[in-house]
Amino acid sequence: MDISYILNHLGEEREEYYGSVAPPVFQTSNFCFKTVAIMREELKRELEIPFYSRGFNPTVAILRKKIAALEFAEDALVFSSGSAAVAAAVMSIVKAGDHVICVEKPYSWTNNLLTKYLSKYGVTTTFINGNEIINFENAIQENTKLIYLESPNSLTFELQDIEAVAILAKSKNICTILDNSYSSPINQNPITLGIDIVLHSATKYLNGHSDVVAGAVCGSKLRIMKMMAEEYMTIGSIISANDAALILRGLRTLEIRVDRSAQSTQKVIRFLEKHPKIKQVNHPFSDNNPQLILAKKQMKQGGGLFSVILNVENVNQVELFCDNLKRFLMAASWGGYESLVFPVCALGASNSFKNPLPWNLVRIYVGLEQAELLIDDLKQALEKI
Ligand SMILES: *Cc1c(COP(=O)(O)O)cnc(C)c1O
Repeated sequence: MDISYILNHLGEEREEYYGSVAPPVFQTSNFCFKTVAIMREELKRELEIPFYSRGFNPTVAILRKKIAALEFAEDALVFSSGSAAVAAAVMSIVKAGDHVICVEKPYSWTNNLLTKYLSKYGVTTTFINGNEIINFENAIQENTKLIYLESPNSLTFELQDIEAVAILAKSKNICTILDNSYSSPINQNPITLGIDIVLHSATKYLNGHSDVVAGAVCGSKLRIMKMMAEEYMTIGSIISANDAALILRGLRTLEIRVDRSAQSTQKVIRFLEKHPKIKQVNHPFSDNNPQLILAKKQMKQGGGLFSVILNVENVNQVELFCDNLKRFLMAASWGGYESLVFPVCALGASNSFKNPLPWNLVRIYVGLEQAELLIDDLKQALEKI
C-alpha cells in the first residue's frame, strides 16, 4: 500500500457519510440500538464496533488504520499521550517478577515508568549502552521479558542495530518495543526489521502542528486487541474524537513535512559541523557519526532533531547563544512546523538524575522554515557568544 493512499484514503468510507471528503468527527460518548436483541449482539463485539467511545470510536478508528498501515502493522491504538502509549505497551508485556532491558538515556518519562513506577510492582530494569549487540546478550536474564529500544534516542541520537536485536530477542522469546517517534513511519519501519511493537509520541511528527498531545502503539492484531481489552480499556487513557480528527488532518502532510524537515536539517548540520563555536553535532546522518553506516542501513533519512555541543567556557555563553536566536522558539517538544531550541542547562545542574548530559549541549529542531533563514539566524547567534 503506497503512502499517498494511506494518507488520503485508507479507512475513509466516504459513501457512509454523504460523500463528506473530510471525515466527520464522531463527538459522541455512546451509540444506541433499536432492540435488546441487537444490543446484546453488538455488546459481544464492543471493542470492534461503535458501542461506547472509550472503546471504539469511528473517527479514532480511521486514525488507527492509517497509523497501523504506515508502520506495516496489523493494528494500532491511539492514546491521549505518547507517555500513555509507552506505559500501555510496556505494561501489556511485563508482570511482577519480570525483567526489562532498556537502552540508556531513554525518554525521561519512559525512564520514570521503569525506574520509579514499575519497580513498585516488582519489575526490574537494566539500562545498557545499546550500540553493541553484545551488551544486550550480556544483560539477558532468565526472567527477561522485554527489550525496550529508542533508535535513535532524542538527545544524543545513538542507534541500535534493530535487525540484530530483533533476531537475538526472538531466539530468547523476548518481546521487543521500539519508540519510533524520532524517525516517524516515513524514515524508519522497525516492524519490517523484526520488532514486535512500535510506538510513537503522536504529539511530534504524526500530528505535526503542536496543537495535540497524543500517542500510538502498533503491532499484531492479537497483541493490539489484548492491549485494548486490558490496558487501554482499564486505564482509559484514550484520545478524543476531536483530537483524532486534528491528527488525521496533520497526517495528510506527514510525508512532505518530514521530508522538508529532513532536507533542511542536512543543510543546517553541514553549516554547524564547520563552525568553530560548535564542538560536536549529534545527528544520525552527520558525516562524523561513528554509526553512520548503520543509520543508512536502517533509516531512509535523518530527522529534524539533533543536538550540538557548544565550544564555550561557561553557561552564560550557552544562554547568550540561545537567547539571541530569533527564528527558533525556546521550548520543549519538537516535530511541529516551528523550529525550536532546548538547552540542557535549562534542566539545572549537571550530573543529577534529571540531567546526566553535558551542560553545553543544546538540542535543536528544524521545522518547516527555509533552511537559509535558519542558518543565518544560527550564524548571528553564534557570533554573539
Ligand atoms: C515526546 C516523546 C515521548 C512522550 O510523548 P508525549 O506525547 O509527550 O507524552 C516519548 N518518546 C519520545 C522519543 C518523545 O520525544
